[in-house]
Amino acid sequence: MTGASSGIGASTAVRLATAGAHVVAAARRTDRLTSLVERITHTGGRGLAVTADLTQEDQAGTAVARAVDEFGRLDIVVANAGIMLLGPLEGADSAEWRRMIELNTLGVMYTAHAAIPHLLTAASQGPRQVADLVLVSSTAGRQVRNGSGAYNASKHAVTAFGEALRMELTRRHLRTAIVEPGAVDTELPTHNRPEIQERMRARYATMRRLHADDVADTIAFIVTRPDHVAVNEVLVRPTDQQE
Ligand code: NDP
Repeated sequence: MTGASSGIGASTAVRLATAGAHVVAAARRTDRLTSLVERITHTGGRGLAVTADLTQEDQAGTAVARAVDEFGRLDIVVANAGIMLLGPLEGADSAEWRRMIELNTLGVMYTAHAAIPHLLTAASQGPRQVADLVLVSSTAGRQVRNGSGAYNASKHAVTAFGEALRMELTRRHLRTAIVEPGAVDTELPTHNRPEIQERMRARYATMRRLHADDVADTIAFIVTRPDHVAVNEVLVRPTDQQE
């Protein structure tokens, strides 16, 4: 589980641990990951905190290797770590583009690249006879909004990558799913510049956003289907979200 130190990733880690999975929680904030694993352990589950900056290919590889070393197999990977920096494209700070592409796109690709051999082993030799790679994209990976262009680009790439992986690997029982949440109440908007955050607050004022647990439920549904069922794409928006 990448991006497990907050929001959707933390909720999904707990949800999957409750369902019996041994969970490896990866992100940069070690203290958050450690408390999460303590929470999982306290309720009878098993977990491991792995500090990793997933924009760094070697750290993505190490996170995957530590999961396999600790638990012996890799059945499910949820590539969720992401950042959303909004604003017009004209005159944008291209460092923000780089941060999003390096994490939302390349981070997901590095994680998948390192995990695929282990997922294929689990699919052919593990008790489930199937493995799951869940890529957390966004409604922004499917629908472009004015003022969201670079984030849109980083997430559209995830959709293309996920669909290509699906075609390549589904016959070997590696299921690929793209999850596309609408607005979820998490830390995600807080990394934006103040004026952008103000705009987002105004947008969210008329909307009951999803909770991170709502997306965790969706991911848990995907990875608990019988082995002949592949849920490949789920778009889940708040009822109040028009666009
Ligand atoms: P959060 O900000 O709560 O979570 C983002 C996670 O990504 C954190 O755990 C953060 O941990 C991790 N992360 C950030 N940078 C790095 C890095 N360089 N290396 C490793 N981990 C990193 O937001 P959400 O839970 O909302 O976001 C999760 C995913 O859901 C993202 O991909 C986002 O794009 C997507 N999404 C969110 C929506 C929303 O409205 N909230 C809507 C649609 C999609 P740390 O800082 O400790 O590294």
